Amino acid sequence: ISLMPKSNKNYALALHGGAGPVAGRDYTVTETHLRELTLDCEGWLQAGRSALDVVEHAVTELETCGLYVAGRGSAPNSAGHVELDASIMDGRTREAGAVAALRDFVNPVQVARSVMEKTPHVMLAGDGALEFARGQGFDEVSDPLNYYRLPVGVTSDDIQGTAHGTVGAVALDTHGNLSAATSTGGTFGKLHGRIGDTPLIGPGTWADDTIAISCTGTGEHIIRSGGATAIAFRYRSGVALADAIQEMLDEVKRLGGDAGVIAVTSAAEIAMPYNSDGMKRAAVSTTAPLAVATFS
Ligand code: ASP
Repeated sequence: ISLMPKSNKNYALALHGGAGPVAGRDYTVTETHLRELTLDCEGWLQAGRSALDVVEHAVTELETCGLYVAGRGSAPNSAGHVELDASIMDGRTREAGAVAALRDFVNPVQVARSVMEKTPHVMLAGDGALEFARGQGFDEVSDPLNYYRLPVGVTSDDIQGTAHGTVGAVALDTHGNLSAATSTGGTFGKLHGRIGDTPLIGPGTWADDTIAISCTGTGEHIIRSGGATAIAFRYRSGVALADAIQEMLDEVKRLGGDAGVIAVTSAAEIAMPYNSDGMKRAAVSTTAPLAVATFS
């Protein structure tokens, strides 16, 4: 258990737009967007909103804008249609919700929160997720062919390859509570039905009373490294935050993948390391000024 004291005034927030940026490409547009969204979310935290509301709001915006490989920026799988994965976890209650391989909803993270709040389950997938989302009245994509768009920094050639991306948010609110949320269109050209780390509570998303984490990168390797929970358990047993994350990133690398992580702790520490080429990211806290970057 971490011995870090809990503050009831500090807040901290980190966002990511995925660990898939390609060196040499221009990410000015996403950096500007992340800057504005981070300031917007900081206002929510300063107003006393819960970490859960803030991470849902952040990921909703990241899904809707179409600038990242999530929501509107998702690419079709090998069967020619988009399948969306998302998850959210409330560190205060340890409740969690997720959707996997959900087709054509505007904001999968909102459906994930609804799974958490309106069902006894943690995850719904495929047709069942779709029926649930429809029953809850969430916005559907009515014209998929014209809705989805290439995200910033992705070319039509990349769609044949292994390009990937994700969005995520982690927050500590002024009440001392932590939450995390993650959403993705997955890896381009993925097999029909393929589900990565993003909707999995544990590998892709984790929040408890000491730490909130959202992962991005090659999902299969993140899952096999243990992902976010492997970091959380190391951190909770006394390993320093940076070391706890680095051990997980090294495991991902050893298994043949690459990844990035955003984490905030109950002590308002923020970490955003990666071993991919870059990671679109932004953060702010009571003590740290706004920081936005894509590469090092
Ligand atoms: N982790 C995501 C997935 O494997 C992709 C990414 O984060 O870039 O679906």
